[in-house]
Amino acid sequence: MDTILKEIVKQVTPLIGSGEVASYIPALKKVDPNQFGIAIYSKSGELYEIGDSRVDFSIQSISKVFSLTLAMKHYGESMWERVGREPSGQPFNSLVQLEYEYGIPRNPFINAGALVVSDMNQSRFASPQHAMREFVRRLSGNKQIQYDRQVADSEFEFRARNASMAYLMQSFNNFDNDVEKVLRNYFNNCAIKMNCVDLAKAFSFLSNKGACPHSGERVLTGQETKQVNALMATSGLYDEAGNFAYRVGLPGKSGVGGGIVAIVPDQFSVCVWSPELNKAGNSLAGMAALEALSESIGWSVF
Ligand code: GLN
Repeated sequence: MDTILKEIVKQVTPLIGSGEVASYIPALKKVDPNQFGIAIYSKSGELYEIGDSRVDFSIQSISKVFSLTLAMKHYGESMWERVGREPSGQPFNSLVQLEYEYGIPRNPFINAGALVVSDMNQSRFASPQHAMREFVRRLSGNKQIQYDRQVADSEFEFRARNASMAYLMQSFNNFDNDVEKVLRNYFNNCAIKMNCVDLAKAFSFLSNKGACPHSGERVLTGQETKQVNALMATSGLYDEAGNFAYRVGLPGKSGVGGGIVAIVPDQFSVCVWSPELNKAGNSLAGMAALEALSESIGWSVF
């Protein structure tokens, strides 16, 4: 594995310089683009890592998998009355489908869907922020995980687009709580700081039929695990989900912080990170690294 990882770093690092670091908030714009890391965690607990695998970054939309998992555990099937399970074929922050689909977002991974899921978690937890932080600390085994206050505040300051979605959904009666409060919590989740090793470990329940390999905690049932992986495979990379399936062939979830997590069911959880993004808002070098990894190890689920 170590030789493969070294080869991938050699292959992929020349791509750095051809993408753009997320610039919608000042706090993300100042991240050094010259960073690249990989961590792979097997369901039997072996860890392989290379490069900047221990450097913290903003997990952004990768957090949508954690909030979905929390909501699924509580609401079960009933949650699908408020959010769909179809790929949107639209950018992550699009509003267009909400208008003619009566405020029901296409899936839980586009922003509109994640906002509805945050609204559900707001109804369920006295402090969703505390619940989420404890959850990711437990899943990753890292008790130091924190929110980046600067990123969270900056997201809130530039909230117009996400706020528009939330208010539009409220107008269709698909929002129960105070919009500004839910937005705060959604942005807090996006602003969690983790590194590749934390994320590979935190996602390992999805490569182990729902149980966390390092703690033994049962997070989801086998069936729910299959469902989350299916949603990641069809919608985890927004309007690039098809391309990701074609090139990588694994369930995956990206964030505009440059992280991408991928699951090799029943085997591995993987996190790659490099801050420069392509036009769809997914890590450019990260995509290439996952493609090379799945190619050389023969990981595709297809
Ligand atoms: N915080 C970002 C937003 O809400 C998350 C987007 C992403 O990572 N794709 O727009």
